[in-house]
Amino acid sequence: MGKSIEVKTDVNAGFCFGVKRAIALVEKILNEKAKVYTLGPIIHNPQEVKRLKEKGVKILNDIDCVKSGYIILRTHGISLELRNKLEKNKTLYIIDATCPFVKKAQDIIKNLNLQETTIVIVGENSHPEVEALVSYGAGKCVVIENPMEALEFKGMGELNIVSQTTQIPQNFNAIVKILKKQFKVNIYNTICKATLERQESAKKLAKKVDLMIVVGGRNSGNTTRLAEICKTQTKTYHIETIDKLDDKWFNNIKTVGLTAGASTPDNIIKSVQNKLREILQKRILQREENKNLDKTIF
Ligand code: SF4
Repeated sequence: MGKSIEVKTDVNAGFCFGVKRAIALVEKILNEKAKVYTLGPIIHNPQEVKRLKEKGVKILNDIDCVKSGYIILRTHGISLELRNKLEKNKTLYIIDATCPFVKKAQDIIKNLNLQETTIVIVGENSHPEVEALVSYGAGKCVVIENPMEALEFKGMGELNIVSQTTQIPQNFNAIVKILKKQFKVNIYNTICKATLERQESAKKLAKKVDLMIVVGGRNSGNTTRLAEICKTQTKTYHIETIDKLDDKWFNNIKTVGLTAGASTPDNIIKSVQNKLREILQKRILQREENKNLDKTIF
């Protein structure tokens, strides 16, 4: 039998500190047999959210439809208006699972909001974290997603630039560079450490392999950006689960790298890892069979 093709898994693949903390809080309250609600999905991974749902967690879009129980706030935070509404509610217990890195960005914006200033948030306009950040800036925030938008930005005075926690530093820096040419800027780089570590190690791994598989929610911003980074280095596919792996991707591939977003659970990473080994092993056996067949013919 030929030697197997190694699947190299990124050391930083999977749950970050903020997600681990949020899931632990949900599990703890579930163990107390209490009613548990989350406002929107607790994290951006449909499979993990489904698992928690099966254990009893209910997802709400509005708090008005419940009278009692625990409301767990998602890792990427909620809007200031919603937080104020929750704080007035005396019958619900609020468990804040907002990641401390997201909280830090919210606090920076809250403080900046006391000044006469424009706050630029570098991030995805429709992402819940960014929507919540905007709410802390009370009309003073502008969201810029990419350098093109920075070039088109028309503003006045001094700018305070804050980042969505899961941005790619190169995008943040490129936007800052453009805005700096026209405005006096104060920079608050709030990209979180876990994001930086994952992006750096994924890029290093992608450089060394023929193909990268990035696992994580389609709705997960940090996973999508990991895939974007890997694509700059090698052929890359972003999948949520093993059923999306396609045998054809592995034609003429010798090395495969595997990474996963900060909200991808271990069991999904392991299942992809095993499936990859299986596919690659099968391919080696096929190659050997073909070689033996060639020998028999000639
Ligand atoms: S990716 Fe960063 S900001 Fe988001 S939950 Fe994880 S540690 Fe917190």
